[in-house]
Amino acid sequence: MVHLSLEDLYKEVILDHYRSPRHKGRLDPHDIVLERNNPLCGDEIELFLKFDGDQLAGLSFDGKGCSISQASASMMAERLQGIAIKDATDLAGGIRKMMAGEEEGDADELGDLIALKGVVKYPVRIKCAMLGWTTLLEALDEAGKGTPS
Ligand code: ZN
Repeated sequence: MVHLSLEDLYKEVILDHYRSPRHKGRLDPHDIVLERNNPLCGDEIELFLKFDGDQLAGLSFDGKGCSISQASASMMAERLQGIAIKDATDLAGGIRKMMAGEEEGDADELGDLIALKGVVKYPVRIKCAMLGWTTLLEALDEAGKGTPS
């Protein structure tokens, strides 16, 4: 019987999103676009957001860089389609705490995103994993949709 460790499982999820990114490419029309990079690794993320009231009607990303940065953005884009902006910011806050090692991360709540936890033990890669999420929070702030943290 093949036994996959949790770490292998995390790697599988990340590689799958890296090889087949979800919601990658320009979103038109969009309400805001924001580009940020992680100079430590050379990762670039451009985020397109479309709002519908207090909902995130659409989210796509473009970018290049390491597998962790691109997979994290893909997982984020898949998860946040059509959800309430408040839920998106809550989720981003939860991811940030998990990556900072302040929280274990709730597998039920996070779904596939729990795979990012595999990155926590590689401190130099945490910025890679967080790039999409920090770009999201900045974009929401710029759009006047952010919540004070
Ligand atoms: Zn990177």
